[in-house]
Amino acid sequence: MFKRMKAVRRPLFWFKMMMWALSLVIAALLIQLGSLIMSDVPTAGASIQQKDFEDTARLTPIIAQTKQISDQLKQSKRDIEDAEFKLASARSDYANGRATFENWIKTRSATESRAENPEVIARTKNLEQLKLSERVAERAIEDLNQSKTEKARILADLRNQIAVIRAESALPYEQARKLQTLKVFLFRLAITLPLLLISGWLIAKQRGSKYWPVYRGFIIFSLFAFFVELVPYLPSYGGYVRYIVGIALALLFAHFAITAMSRYVQKKQAEESKPETEKRSLINYETAVKKITAGTCPSCDRTYGAKKDQDVDFCVHCGFCLFTKCTKCGDRENSFYKFCGACGEKSNDGHLREATPA
Ligand SMILES: [Zn+2]
Ligand SMILES: [Zn+2]
Repeated sequence: MFKRMKAVRRPLFWFKMMMWALSLVIAALLIQLGSLIMSDVPTAGASIQQKDFEDTARLTPIIAQTKQISDQLKQSKRDIEDAEFKLASARSDYANGRATFENWIKTRSATESRAENPEVIARTKNLEQLKLSERVAERAIEDLNQSKTEKARILADLRNQIAVIRAESALPYEQARKLQTLKVFLFRLAITLPLLLISGWLIAKQRGSKYWPVYRGFIIFSLFAFFVELVPYLPSYGGYVRYIVGIALALLFAHFAITAMSRYVQKKQAEESKPETEKRSLINYETAVKKITAGTCPSCDRTYGAKKDQDVDFCVHCGFCLFTKCTKCGDRENSFYKFCGACGEKSNDGHLREATPA
């Protein structure tokens, strides 16, 4: 069987590879330049923050007051701690005083009457004084606790007010942010769209141009710009825009693909109705050699072999002549070969047998 074979000249192959490398280099340079331009142009301005939309005139005094009250609250907590120490000390003073008094009275009660004794009266008064101090310390803590509770309530109210004022800024902030997103997107669209239009024009009109590798670099660059510099900045609006743009692109792509396909089918049909000599002159030499060795008919693009491992000289679908015998040595050769591979006989149209008329 035939080895898979390429009729492209080797230097041409490397030249093609080089041209691809050139396209990629051009694309890379353009991408670098583009991102440099994008970073220098003020696309977004300062980023918007919710803070910028808060009612500062109302907020500032409330925040100041909050700070003041919260400082006071801290101070009251410290005061309560101090007062608790004082209370503990007063309690232990009273307990000690009472124990001393009771011991003293036990030793005295045996000998003297308790009533109307001036020393007993003095000691009792002293004990009462200690009890009173304890009560005063307790009262002080209660007062401090009450004041602390009041301050905590005031603080909670102030914090609520701040939250309410801040919440009011959410809507204008959201609107401004949306507008900003839209602005950024439109700006980027204004830069990217011309690139895409130029690329579309290049693809449609300049594909055969000898400067195609350069244009291809530009097209790669514009695709990169589209997917990296534009698509991520599509405003979402809950996904609407993204999906609509996606659907539009898919439809556009489908339109081009379907048109290209029907154009291809029409071209092939028109070609098939032509006489074989004309068909041959329309087919590129390199392509034809490649297709025939790969098992595809160069005329109708179908797989020509009816059975595996069976030599077929004509396409079973369109009757196109694929293989012929050398006029000199009779070796079977690709009908596009210009010389016989076995004897070197020039083939030209000598190889070609007229296809049977349809
Ligand atoms: Zn065919
Ligand atoms: Zn020959």
